[in-house]
Amino acid sequence: MEMKFNLRIAALLMALASLLVTSCSTVPVTGRKQINLMSDTEVVKMTKVAFEQMKAQYPISKDPRMNDWLLNVSERISQQVFWDMPLAEWEFIVFDVPGQINAFAMPGGKVGVFSGLFDLVKTEDELASVIAHEIAHVTARHTHERMSQAGIMKMGSGISSIATSGLSTIMLDPSLSGQLAAWDRAKESEADRIGIMYMARAGFDPNAAITVMEKMAAMDVGGPASQPWNSTHPSSQERLDALHSYLSEAMEVYEEAKRLNF
Ligand SMILES: [Zn+2]
Repeated sequence: MEMKFNLRIAALLMALASLLVTSCSTVPVTGRKQINLMSDTEVVKMTKVAFEQMKAQYPISKDPRMNDWLLNVSERISQQVFWDMPLAEWEFIVFDVPGQINAFAMPGGKVGVFSGLFDLVKTEDELASVIAHEIAHVTARHTHERMSQAGIMKMGSGISSIATSGLSTIMLDPSLSGQLAAWDRAKESEADRIGIMYMARAGFDPNAAITVMEKMAAMDVGGPASQPWNSTHPSSQERLDALHSYLSEAMEVYEEAKRLNF
């Protein structure tokens, strides 16, 4: 009994300590204000460990086309977010997992794509739209928010296990895997908004964001039909409509980027 009480005090102190490092930050492009309970250094440290685990768990693809595309796309987009991810040590890996249509980016600058994604993306511009969306999740600190939420919900069960469980649930992009119920769909819309601007700044044609979303809508990846209980949330069609509304702004940025750099 005494022991349990002390553990509760310890958990409370740890929670208070993490509140002290709370900072208010602003999401790029959208300007949304957010509060985070996680420090960048801690999150980066945990994602590095998680990425090493993934590299041990999955075979790494040697496919030259997939690797060339990923390298080119990721390098150009990562340059656009340099100041948002100062701690990043960039690494880009294609995991050889056919049929797995998914990708992710981590706050430590680790980008992973499953080879199955290449069933969906057929050009470098289309790959860029997925990678830009994934990196947007990072710069918008959705990982931090997710971990903060997990931490609040499970306060007292040990900070490290909270962080790890928070991390594993956000590792893969739910918008691609069709498990959107597990994730706040507002985060998907925000990553779409930021991502289309990132790809444009990096000199990739923003129209590709639309063709990818059209394909996802056609496959009904994560759409209401596959998850009828969740049909009140934005569907691929709604995300598509939103992307169309960002297109003219993104095209201006793209034309300018091409004129200056690419
Ligand atoms: Zn996403």
